[in-house]
Amino acid sequence: MKRARWLLPALIVVGACNAAAPALYRYYLPAMLGPIAVEVQMITTTDARARRAVQAGSAEVSQINNLLSRYIETSEVSRINRKSGSETHASAQTVKVVRRAIEIARLTDGAFDITVGPAVDLWRDARRAGELPDPEELEQARGRVGYQQITVGDNSVTLEKPGMSIDLGGIAKGYIVDRVARALRDTGIEDALVDAGGDGYAMGLNAQAEPWRIGLEHPRGEGRSPLDIVLRLSDRAYATSGDYRQYTEIDGERYSHIIDPRTGRPAREAASATVVAPDCMTADALATALLVMPPEAGVELVDSLEDIECLVITIRDDELHKIASSGFYDLTDDARDRPADTDDHPPE
Ligand code: AMP
Ligand code: MG
Repeated sequence: MKRARWLLPALIVVGACNAAAPALYRYYLPAMLGPIAVEVQMITTTDARARRAVQAGSAEVSQINNLLSRYIETSEVSRINRKSGSETHASAQTVKVVRRAIEIARLTDGAFDITVGPAVDLWRDARRAGELPDPEELEQARGRVGYQQITVGDNSVTLEKPGMSIDLGGIAKGYIVDRVARALRDTGIEDALVDAGGDGYAMGLNAQAEPWRIGLEHPRGEGRSPLDIVLRLSDRAYATSGDYRQYTEIDGERYSHIIDPRTGRPAREAASATVVAPDCMTADALATALLVMPPEAGVELVDSLEDIECLVITIRDDELHKIASSGFYDLTDDARDRPADTDDHPPE
């Protein structure tokens, strides 16, 4: 799997500082949600402070992953899915993520829908087998999709229809990033960049005492080739979803891992969507939704939301078309990023 962004070169001093001068420390927290690790860069004054912060962050990663992963049999989400049709006890963290997922589903008119699990499974098998899912099975899976059928209590989640399943893959990474950022802050860290494979949170300032710089990746570039758009963020979250992250080609067609809940088929509207928001859970879920929505409608939705910006990229005739929300380019490195492309909102 590709990483969705690249880190710009910065002065890196790893674990070699005992004096009181601030230095940049970089760590990788244990793998979660498959092959993705959480990368933490932070500025602090002693090895001991850095270690304490990273231990707190690591504890969050494994705790949340053990609650939310569908691929861990003992997780709460696995239990909720096994017990579809009846009420299941759930922790405050799981309840919080499921509640937010339902809010984003309402906001996006169902483009983001965590009950898409049965269809995700069919397309995952299809990707592995290299052949399209059986239309009948797909129709059955589609019949089990619908966030309206989730009931959330103070400490329970109920999937009302037997056979339903939830998949938090489009939102959990963002929640983990938020929790790691909070854990770092709780140990006294003020300046850090937490990144989980392209979804992250920029806390405070970087080693040059400037907003953190996050380069966006080209959705059709080789390896980690950049898009020449660099976000400059301080106390903001970002997330990117892309059809290039995980996909397969069957009979020459590209099939993405993001499913349009209304059709049960892979989304085809956009090649990538980047969202900047106050928290990473929101950025993550909205980025996934923007890959499903018609790009103009998605950008219009984001324009109606406070403190949220986005860039959606579509590809037509092998050319990239960028559609940005009205304040997006104010968050980039240089106003020259703002293309003269007619698809873009005019500069203010
Ligand atoms: P992301 O990389 O954040 O866009 O999340 C993609 C993952 O979200 C997929 O691998 C699925 O687990 C899940 N997913 C796919 N389609 C949707 C959808 N329409 N709404 C919510 N989650 C989805
Ligand atoms: Mg997402």
